[in-house]
Amino acid sequence: MAKKLNLLYEGKGKKMFNTDDDNLLITEFKDDLTAFNAEKKGSEVGKGALNCKISTEIFHLLEKEGIKTHLIETISEKEQVVKKCQIIPIEVITRNVATGSLTKRLGIQEGTILPFSVVEFCYKNDELGDPLINDEHCLILNLVKNEKDLELIKKIARQINTILVNFFNSKGLRLIDFKLEFGIDSDGNMILADEISPDSCRFWDSKTNEKLDKDRFRQDLGNVKMAYEEVLKRILS
Ligand code: 5GP
Repeated sequence: MAKKLNLLYEGKGKKMFNTDDDNLLITEFKDDLTAFNAEKKGSEVGKGALNCKISTEIFHLLEKEGIKTHLIETISEKEQVVKKCQIIPIEVITRNVATGSLTKRLGIQEGTILPFSVVEFCYKNDELGDPLINDEHCLILNLVKNEKDLELIKKIARQINTILVNFFNSKGLRLIDFKLEFGIDSDGNMILADEISPDSCRFWDSKTNEKLDKDRFRQDLGNVKMAYEEVLKRILS
């Protein structure tokens, strides 16, 4: 097993450590919660472990369906060994139902089912507040090599959306929207990185539309940990 060495990077939701294997990193999920570009901060004991478990289950499902990911192995409650990759600084957001920033930006009523799934790009840049960007912005900022990579990212995001919408439907959850991050591995492959969890997705209960994700923290709805536990329970059911 890869041996954990020095801290490489600390983000809002995770810490990344170097290992004794040049191709591998260890990622540790944190209990911290942040929203609105870290203007709102909190913490929930056990949240990191819940996200680690949820993300592990989802990444295994995606791997089984042929999606290449960075996940090698989950080695503890909060830690995963992942393939080192060059992260593309784009947040890839896929939306099935209008809410959040889409509602604010375009005035589409909260809860409106979109006529087709929309893939958006945001520039992963805290100083700028992760602004929405289009394909040409991605190219002038050199965030990807070429247009083909952008098309590939969109194609994989849509594949993931189809897999996850069906999966969560069968668990009594609506996948409203979610954020993905991609990277290029040492062989030049585009792989799914980061995590997929209630920190990065919106899940509504299929019957009641109750919010079971980080919006409970963002909107002070309470019972944040209970919601994450419920998502994990449904995934494992
Ligand atoms: P919105 O643009 O409506 O705020 O977010 C759309 C989706 O992307 C939501 O599922 C939200 O959780 C996710 N998302 C957007 N930005 C971030 C971010 O900086 N970090 C994480 N973890 N998720 C994000």
